[in-house]
Amino acid sequence: MENIKKRIFLGFIFVVLIFTGFIIPVSADWNETNKEVDSFYKLVPDDSVVHVFKEIQFTNYDTDTKYWKGYYEHMHHEIPENARNIDMWDRGNKKITIQKEHGDEYYISRLNRNLWYGDSCSIYLEYDIPVNENTAVFKLNENADLINATVMVPDSYNVYIDNPDYTTKHSSNLNMYKFNRIKDQLRCKIDAVNRTEYNVLNKTVQLSDEKVGFKIKYWDGEDDWANTTLDTALKTLPVMEKLWGIPYPKDYNITITQATKNDTSGYSGINNGKHGILMLHTSNEDILIHELAHYWTQNCNFKHRWMDEGYADLYTYLVLNRINPHDAHERKEDFIKQYNTMKQSNDLVLSTWSVPDSIGSKNFDQVDYGYKKSFVLVYNIYNKIGLESIKEANQQFLKLNSSIGNNEYKHIIQSVSHTNLKNEWKLLHSDI
Ligand SMILES: [Zn+2]
Repeated sequence: MENIKKRIFLGFIFVVLIFTGFIIPVSADWNETNKEVDSFYKLVPDDSVVHVFKEIQFTNYDTDTKYWKGYYEHMHHEIPENARNIDMWDRGNKKITIQKEHGDEYYISRLNRNLWYGDSCSIYLEYDIPVNENTAVFKLNENADLINATVMVPDSYNVYIDNPDYTTKHSSNLNMYKFNRIKDQLRCKIDAVNRTEYNVLNKTVQLSDEKVGFKIKYWDGEDDWANTTLDTALKTLPVMEKLWGIPYPKDYNITITQATKNDTSGYSGINNGKHGILMLHTSNEDILIHELAHYWTQNCNFKHRWMDEGYADLYTYLVLNRINPHDAHERKEDFIKQYNTMKQSNDLVLSTWSVPDSIGSKNFDQVDYGYKKSFVLVYNIYNKIGLESIKEANQQFLKLNSSIGNNEYKHIIQSVSHTNLKNEWKLLHSDI
């Protein structure tokens, strides 16, 4: 009875409002709104951009607005930092203001729409993401109740997508990757490369015993990557041999080849010994130093993965610390922080840890945890025994002609340092 009275009363108010031609703006609740997004990301090499077009449709399901129009003031949008030509309009081609205040995380569009309960409204968003001449890296960040997204890339490109939930289609020289009816959130990274013939940069560096040549192989339009890579290699190799206390241990020159994620099976870099280093076109200084350090770890006869990766990352820290102390400190602190966060939800015994042939979104966290835990262990050992003891142990690894297992490692480290490392060995054998 009460309900019927209420409805009659609200109906009466409603009629009065209609007749007076006046609508009370009621701020409708976004939780009661259904939002659907259809997104298109098209790589346009001639313009060196990824052109993004989105149709965003929202429907008013707020029951509080059954008898009047719900009022929608604004909407948040996640748009990349480097996006340009940002534009928004409605179905009637009327421009909608969209902007980001300094320091804000999101763009805000001023909608100022009134919608009846059950009615929908469509708005359109467009922007460009700048990319290189032959390489494009961009992210899909969509939040909505229902998401459809299509990525369109010319079929000459080699494409890597770190989320496998898509279907593919080919049409007029384009490969299309479709994410259909995804609920709530879609996040993934696209890495597209148009391989050209390799260009080559050559330079030699004087080391303590000999000269070593570097050859950098890179695609057209990737000169910045090639120059930075060469500079880092020339600068860091002499520092590396001093910090290891061992001259460059190989008898060959070093080739560094620019690579796609498909070439590296998802890894940032791969050291293939005398066949050189494969470096992802998005990889920076720290990855190169890590891969160069593997020329030493390979000669240490390490039997276990934690030793190879832990030492490669310890030496990345030590070398970076000489050339860029701020970055070295940040990277170290970040690794320790990530380890402490990840150990809550991961268990992994380092002494028997191995890595898979390829990594992607499904196994990334587990592999990454192994790397971070290996670094924390080796860094803690270094922190306790100091660089001189680390160098002394390095000499012993090289001298020993058999492989270094966990026991041999512990024995050598104990014998050079005479330090109590009980906690470190615990970390090596425990699953946290
Ligand atoms: Zn490595």
